[in-house]
Amino acid sequence: MNIDNKTIFNTVNNGIIILDENLNILAWNNWLEIFTKIKEKDIINKNICDYFPYINEKKLKRKAKTVLVTNAPSFLSLNTNRFLIDIPVSNITNTTFKSMQQDITILPYDIEKKHICIYIYDNTLMCEINHKLEEANQELIEMSHRDPLTHIFNRRYFAEQSKKIKAYSQRNNNLPFSLLTLDIDNFKKINDTYGHLVGDEVIITTANLINQEIRESDIAARFGGEEFVMLLQDCPIQDAVTVAEKVRQSIEKVSLTINSNAIIKFTVSIGVAQFDQTLDDDNIENTLARSDTALYEAKNKGRNRTVISK
Ligand code: GH3
Ligand code: MG
Ligand code: MG
Repeated sequence: MNIDNKTIFNTVNNGIIILDENLNILAWNNWLEIFTKIKEKDIINKNICDYFPYINEKKLKRKAKTVLVTNAPSFLSLNTNRFLIDIPVSNITNTTFKSMQQDITILPYDIEKKHICIYIYDNTLMCEINHKLEEANQELIEMSHRDPLTHIFNRRYFAEQSKKIKAYSQRNNNLPFSLLTLDIDNFKKINDTYGHLVGDEVIITTANLINQEIRESDIAARFGGEEFVMLLQDCPIQDAVTVAEKVRQSIEKVSLTINSNAIIKFTVSIGVAQFDQTLDDDNIENTLARSDTALYEAKNKGRNRTVISK
């Protein structure tokens, strides 16, 4: 066909396809020849939806009709795959997408002959940047929930989640849940004898062992220093004591080797309390205080033990 301004058609840095109302290809520009490696002479007069069967024919036909009726350009939204024509992109420059991410505009080309023009804009770079930003945001959100030393959850996240768990439990016939408060025994002595860095290793080891012993639905957090708190969902006090003892014993068993000679062994004390709406005045902070009192009692009774809140 006779294209107006053939030079622009073939030098523009975008894909341009001219179609008749039945979606047969009338023109295919140089940009498309380069990127698809399909020559215009090999694709001319072919139906675009036969040639590229993954194109949503119904949608494209509807859009073409609208453009011709309104005599106005229209943007074609792409759902799952963000492309009209699948053009693989090099995975050296792009690590996220296998195919070029395209913006597609459909324009009226010749209203009398019912010809339309599809304009393909390569938007891969912007999509890649957005995707990386999204990933970085997710990472930031994740980091804001965690303690930098142990990567266990922090106090703020614990407070947020424990409120949700309390609400869930109360919606479900007061499903029991319990809190454990844990503190490393004689930790100052570890710091004083071996130094702060070894002290940090002991804190990290404790966090890892706690995470190993609790369920995925439970939440463990570092409350500062060498103190940890665990919230055990759907867990009455007897079961909470069993978990506490498992944690305590697994920590008691572990031996940390430092500088390939000194072996450090350490223990923890644990306080346990079950949330009680009446006793705690509907406030988890009060359960936490009761569990803390039980922990204090465990310390007074000689450490390396679990005590239940009365
Ligand atoms: P107890 O058995 O009664 O708990 O005795 P303790 O020596 O463990 O006493 P306490 O719990 O009060 O000790 C807390 C110490 O933890 C004091 C502080 O120097 C140390 N500490 C707090 N945060 C950190 C940290 O991030 N790293 C290290 N290495 N030490 C910390
Ligand atoms: Mg301590
Ligand atoms: Mg302490």
